[in-house]
Amino acid sequence: MNAEPARLAAGMPYDVARVRADFPVLATRVRGKRLAFLDTAASAQRPLQVIEAVAAYERTSHANVHRGVYQLSQRATDAFEGARERVRRFLNAASEREVIFTRGTTEAINLVAQSWARSTLGPGDEILITWMEHHANIVPWQMVCQQTGATLKVAPIDRRGELRLDAFRALLSPRTRLVAFTAVSNSLGTVLPAAEIVAAARAVGALVLVDAAQAVPHERVDLRALDCDFLAFSGHKLYGPTGIGVLWGREAVLREMPPWQGGGDMILTVSFERTTYNALPYKFEAGTPNISGAIGLAAAIDYLEGLGIERVHAHEQALLQRATAALGRIPGLTIVGQAARKAGVISFTLEGVHPHDLGTILDAEGVAVRAGHHCAMPVMDFFEVAATARASFGCYSDEADLEQLVAALGHAREVFG
Ligand code: PMP
Repeated sequence: MNAEPARLAAGMPYDVARVRADFPVLATRVRGKRLAFLDTAASAQRPLQVIEAVAAYERTSHANVHRGVYQLSQRATDAFEGARERVRRFLNAASEREVIFTRGTTEAINLVAQSWARSTLGPGDEILITWMEHHANIVPWQMVCQQTGATLKVAPIDRRGELRLDAFRALLSPRTRLVAFTAVSNSLGTVLPAAEIVAAARAVGALVLVDAAQAVPHERVDLRALDCDFLAFSGHKLYGPTGIGVLWGREAVLREMPPWQGGGDMILTVSFERTTYNALPYKFEAGTPNISGAIGLAAAIDYLEGLGIERVHAHEQALLQRATAALGRIPGLTIVGQAARKAGVISFTLEGVHPHDLGTILDAEGVAVRAGHHCAMPVMDFFEVAATARASFGCYSDEADLEQLVAALGHAREVFG
């Protein structure tokens, strides 16, 4: 194992073998076969640097945060707040007060729905999303529309899996109070035109929430350039632990929002007559947080930035191109989602084979892909498929993974041929 992250000197070729050596799980065998892990979009594997950062914290520094006067608690608090600062720097956010730790993207979006939207919206107000959203960016808005009488609008996509920008613009009006969209579709891989969407939303005075769950692992997200109001992502898709994620919110907006969950840490004073709330970001962090998760997330950000997000992006794009060409040559295989700009995600169907059966056959060959609706049932309905198989890439994906996938698909065609 590498003691240091596989830092790659500028100008040197991307050394995927060195990167892979950082990920112990990739050396495990599955059903006696080499593991070709092609489900990074669902959850990325963790490098040793993350595993060890979490273990070191557990071994030497764990105590509850923000409360203890003793040294160990201070150490834990420093590490936890250090992780918040690391996230701030990663996103180029203006202040740590804007970085709220959550369980993940899902909780971050629910927080905005139940705090901002529930307290602000009423009949006649509209929330605009796209057809490509993950259920996590659909259902919380449906729930809050039921609670407030607001209306949910959906901007359509085309057969290539791209947002129809003209139709999106036509749905915007002064009634639109929030535009919530995914920067990258998890089911199709489409990279949405974030700058155009934000500018159009701003022009009608709407706030903007970006679901960046599939974006932050693959491309640099700079909040000052993006100019949104909320952004959500999950640690586990970024080579970090599960159960930790981030809601970033613009400070001026967060300050006006009521707390969502009540409890310890989010208060300044409590009496039975009156409770006063803590300052940002603690107002939105009720209860003991996921301390080791935040520390693992900071280590994951260090790791990815050590590799260089731009270089990881280029590596994944090269794999995507080769995979698209290789899968395109397989008779009966249809790639679902052919947008001009895509992240390292390929959804596909194979004629005569149900995606779940396909997933099982590929598993027998050591190939881990996702089969199902990818928490994006409206996308499946749009393409009139019950499900797809999906291969997705990360910093450690390599040619051998791809070759194993193509060989296993050949085998599936023989079995069902
Ligand atoms: N949005 C997108 C685009 C996703 O891909 C996912 C996870 N598949 C989520 C939201 C939800 O993330 P989590 O389950 O980590 O909360």
